[in-house]
Amino acid sequence: MHHEIVIVGAGMAGLICGKTLQDSGREVVVIDKSRGLGGRLATRRLANTHADHGVCYLKPKGNRFKAFIQDLVDRNVVSLWSDRLHTLNAEGELLLDANPSARYAAPNGATAIAKDLAKGLTVELGQVINAIRPIDQGWQLTSQNPDFDLTASVVILAIPAPQALPLVQMIANFEFIQQIEDVTFAPSLTAIAAYAPELRSQFAATNLRGVTCDDKILGWIGFDDTKQLNPTQPTIIIQSNAKFASAHFDSTDLPAIAQQLCDRAAEVLALPPIATPELLQIQRWKYAFAVNPITAPVLAATTRAPLFCIGDWCGGNRVENAFLSGLAMAERLG
Ligand SMILES: Cc1cc2nc3c(=O)[nH]c(=O)nc-3n(C[C@H](O)[C@H](O)[C@H](O)COP(=O)(O)OP(=O)(O)OC[C@H]3O[C@@H](n4cnc5c(N)ncnc54)[C@H](O)[C@@H]3O)c2cc1C
Repeated sequence: MHHEIVIVGAGMAGLICGKTLQDSGREVVVIDKSRGLGGRLATRRLANTHADHGVCYLKPKGNRFKAFIQDLVDRNVVSLWSDRLHTLNAEGELLLDANPSARYAAPNGATAIAKDLAKGLTVELGQVINAIRPIDQGWQLTSQNPDFDLTASVVILAIPAPQALPLVQMIANFEFIQQIEDVTFAPSLTAIAAYAPELRSQFAATNLRGVTCDDKILGWIGFDDTKQLNPTQPTIIIQSNAKFASAHFDSTDLPAIAQQLCDRAAEVLALPPIATPELLQIQRWKYAFAVNPITAPVLAATTRAPLFCIGDWCGGNRVENAFLSGLAMAERLG
């Protein structure tokens, strides 16, 4: 089937781009390899609850993203989570943010934002695009599924640079490939822990919501259930720092790594029950944060048919950068 525009990647960049293009009358389809929407805007369903194991919160800086968030607030998709979080400094001291700064989160999980954006969009999930070939009408995309048949006049890759590279290496110009090749990402190992409901009051007594850690192994500890309206049990997200994730990413004993993250969080917060969750899982993010993003919000190839890259790494390494990149792409195609 031929489409005017195919966007590969249903994260923030691909979805806001697709939605904006469709709203302006363009014919768009969004493809993603995952079974769910949102990419790193990710929520894990647990037995009786859920937790955001990707994006922790949204902290809008610019006016366009502020307006986008306000619209989500007005429609009860997100709400203000906290305007003062904590920092654990290298000396092990827990400090409350000196300056207030609004952080927003989705009470039903971060993927609620992606689901909201995808309303009315044609999205095909579970298709790993593994090759793009030039054809007379533009591009042919192939996936691991032999029955997949897709051609497009315009292709937009809204995926992390290292995942875009193998798709464009044989079809695009040298400068375009070089810029993609130069972008590296830091990984993250993220423990997702759920606790006995009776621990809720003990955790609540700490008044902690989220702690950015300058620690030998930790990057972030989030009391994720504090985002929910009626939480049933405490859930904590514990992110490693990039150094720890690089060293242990291919560990054959990931449950032990998850336990190590819990043990360390219990130790630095002096909260022993954190070490004994009822349920403990781990998520490996190979491409968590762009280390050296490019400055332009859109990367365009010099090819016969239009081919672009967008994503958080086109401008930064946060959701707001993915949002601005997606919008810039849509505006460029007008
Ligand atoms: C643990 C963690 C915590 C974070 N915390 C925050 C935070 O608190 N605040 C913040 O602003 N940012 C945070 N970030 C960063 C934020 O998640 C990203 O900046 C943003 O979500 C990137 O959006 P994107 O659309 O560019 O890419 P992605 O969300 O990565 O979307 C890319 C999509 O492309 C799909 N894809 C890739 N290759 C293919 C292929 N070949 N075929 C089909 N589909 C493909 C993927 O499945 C994915 O859905 C965090 C990231 C991580 C990992």
